[in-house]
Amino acid sequence: MNYDAENVFAKIIRDEAPAHRVYEDDSTLAFMDIMPQVDGHTLVIPKCPAVDLFDVPAEMLTRTIAVTQRVAVAVRSAFSADGVMVAQLSGAAAGQTVFHLHFHILPRHAGIDFRLHAKDVAPDAVLAEHAERIRQALTAD
Ligand code: AMP
Repeated sequence: MNYDAENVFAKIIRDEAPAHRVYEDDSTLAFMDIMPQVDGHTLVIPKCPAVDLFDVPAEMLTRTIAVTQRVAVAVRSAFSADGVMVAQLSGAAAGQTVFHLHFHILPRHAGIDFRLHAKDVAPDAVLAEHAERIRQALTAD
């Protein structure tokens, strides 16, 4: 599959689409998933055009996974999680729906199940509050 520069995450990188950003540097961006499967569901993406895990230069992947670790630490703290699940879907057959490489960070609590994947858009105010919690945890690092 060719990279589509009009996909929604490319638009978020270019600031042409809104997002609740929690972390950004020259090569990487982290923001709240708009249809969170759990509270605190966060996405981390490289800023280079990459469809999926098979389409990203190793150096960019290294930077993206390092940021994923850093944001996961903040998400775990911000949501007092018992554990954190990191997921990456490559290819429609694997369930990928947005074709710009991304890592899901999902805080987990014993006994609390996931909501459905990419189904219900969360209220903007809720996402804003969750993003603020994560930003604060990042600065407390
Ligand atoms: P995947 O199915 O692994 O490609 O995951 C794509 C994720 O992107 C899903 O969890 C969606 O809820 C999420 N998503 C789709 N559009 C947006 C958006 N505009 N802003 C933030 N997250 C989004």
